[in-house]
Amino acid sequence: MLVHICCAVDSHYFLQKLRDDYPDVTLTGYFYDPNIHPYSEYHLRLLEVRRSCGQLGIELIEGEYNMEGWLSAVRGLEHEPEKGARCSVCFDHRFEASAQKAAELGESTFTSTLLTSPKKSLDQLRRSGEEIAARFGIAFVAPDYRKASGTQEQNVLAKEAKLYRQDYCGCVFALGQQRAQQERIADELMSPISGQIQPESIEERIALYEQRINLEGENRPYTIVKERFLNWRLMHARLTVRGRPTPVHILPYSTLKKSYTRGRVEQQVQGIAYLSRDAVKFVTLAEYNRRMRSEYSDVTSLIFSPPPFEAEVALRRSWVDAAYDLSTLCVVESLPANKIELWLEAETYEDVRERLIQF
Ligand code: SF4
Repeated sequence: MLVHICCAVDSHYFLQKLRDDYPDVTLTGYFYDPNIHPYSEYHLRLLEVRRSCGQLGIELIEGEYNMEGWLSAVRGLEHEPEKGARCSVCFDHRFEASAQKAAELGESTFTSTLLTSPKKSLDQLRRSGEEIAARFGIAFVAPDYRKASGTQEQNVLAKEAKLYRQDYCGCVFALGQQRAQQERIADELMSPISGQIQPESIEERIALYEQRINLEGENRPYTIVKERFLNWRLMHARLTVRGRPTPVHILPYSTLKKSYTRGRVEQQVQGIAYLSRDAVKFVTLAEYNRRMRSEYSDVTSLIFSPPPFEAEVALRRSWVDAAYDLSTLCVVESLPANKIELWLEAETYEDVRERLIQF
């Protein structure tokens, strides 16, 4: 039987139940989910599915990440709510590819781990699966493993297996709607031009879950814990001195009350120049290099290839001796004197991140 897989939280439970119910059938996993955005999130979910299938001894095939195909299938349905018309098309799209793959492999049945997802409509899934399976001359197997205490069992299993648990369905449209309702920024869709790994970003999670796979491979004990913290994202920044754009590198946790300020340097103390307004501070690249023991030749190369986020947070603390300081810290090639204008938009927000602890 070909099993379309959407994520590890659903598949880890579903595959084990399916194996109990069909002990003589060989199960093959098929990860076909071009609805998952961005690609890094797709990669992370696949990583976890690979780990789960590896533990269960189930072969896994990765389908094509056909994002363009998926986007054209749902065109016009971008504003539909979850469980609406876009989701029907999304199921059809994934089931069509799965049924085709099943037929290609000579399988007579296919199913989907979506059936165990508590947020999906079972009827909608069954209708789609049965109609598509019939077109390919195969059958859609649609067990209800949510009933009785199935969903609770699934949650317990996911916790025991320390599975990565995503908090949105997958597509950019549902993510945007969900974050707007939560009045939170969709930081999953942000990727800094610097390539620096941001706290609680998908890239940070990938690094954590890859480290976990390595530890398991070496049989070394670990656990994953959650922490609440203040997160930060820089949207954009622009500095001009006497009307001329000037390269500027913004240190983490820099914020500006009204996104714009202007002024002149009022005083310089221990290598830091203080703007006359809004607690903005400037330091030179030479001073940055000295403290970081780095050798950036200009600010532009620092902007595009900075050191790790945590190293810059530590640097910030060494300059402004206050753990919760949110004033703007700008790294520039030479300290400006007057006619300084700064546009800066940055968000700070409460967030939760995972941390891996080795014993
Ligand atoms: S909300 Fe989920 S099921 Fe619906 S279209 Fe988006 S990814 Fe597909």
